[in-house]
Amino acid sequence: MRDFTAPRLFVHADLPGPIAFDQRQTNYLKNVLRLAPGASILVFNGRDGEWRAEVAELGKKAGGAEAVEKTAAQTRRPTLVYAFAPLKQARFDYMVEKATEMGAGRLVPVLTQHGQVRKINRERLAANIVEACEQCGILCVPQIDEPVALSDFLGSLDRPLVVADEALAGDAMDAVATIRAAGSPLAVLVGPEGGFSAEERALFAPRAVRVSLGPRILRADTAAVALLALVEAAFPS
Ligand code: SAH
Repeated sequence: MRDFTAPRLFVHADLPGPIAFDQRQTNYLKNVLRLAPGASILVFNGRDGEWRAEVAELGKKAGGAEAVEKTAAQTRRPTLVYAFAPLKQARFDYMVEKATEMGAGRLVPVLTQHGQVRKINRERLAANIVEACEQCGILCVPQIDEPVALSDFLGSLDRPLVVADEALAGDAMDAVATIRAAGSPLAVLVGPEGGFSAEERALFAPRAVRVSLGPRILRADTAAVALLALVEAAFPS
């Protein structure tokens, strides 16, 4: 049984071995969790599985621990590619966190005509992704790509694509069966708050399978969770 109560931290060190905490992690362990030397935590680096580590010291700016026991084997990166039009901050943070929780292995920001956001803060997104992994016990941290234009994204695709298309809202369809028929490994795409343009629909129509997420038009961050839940139902991981 995996321990989901102990704090879990992403670290860069090879495991097992000595672990150095940066200032943010040290502050979290010492001042937020109020841990003292000798306390047990869980650590992972995305390569060597999950380890129980004993905190050795917690100074003002840095701290250390020693990995002592492997608690879970390294998992493989999920094959699912999650593509999305970038959103404004709070909803974007939410969407990236949820996509990580829902099993995306690679996140691809896609620039679309009606998207309001063109630049992303990769550092902030990466921190969100790591936090979601720490929270949910995900041992392989999803990758995040540089933003690409929709046409380039479509051109570079090496797998079937499922698009949540708001133009199909209200169509009675078995979305799980449609996604399953598309095949796996899979890429999925959620559009911007402004929706897809007619040109974009013409661009992805020949090579994508389009699904409805039900009768209501959802906010893009909600659509992300709904679509990824359908993918999980179609291809349980
Ligand atoms: N402004 C648009 C809505 C965009 S919703 C309009 O009023 O039509 C943002 C994105 O969420 C869409 O591009 C689509 O990818 C997804 N989405 C939201 N509701 C959906 C639904 N019912 N079916 C399929 N996709 C949906």
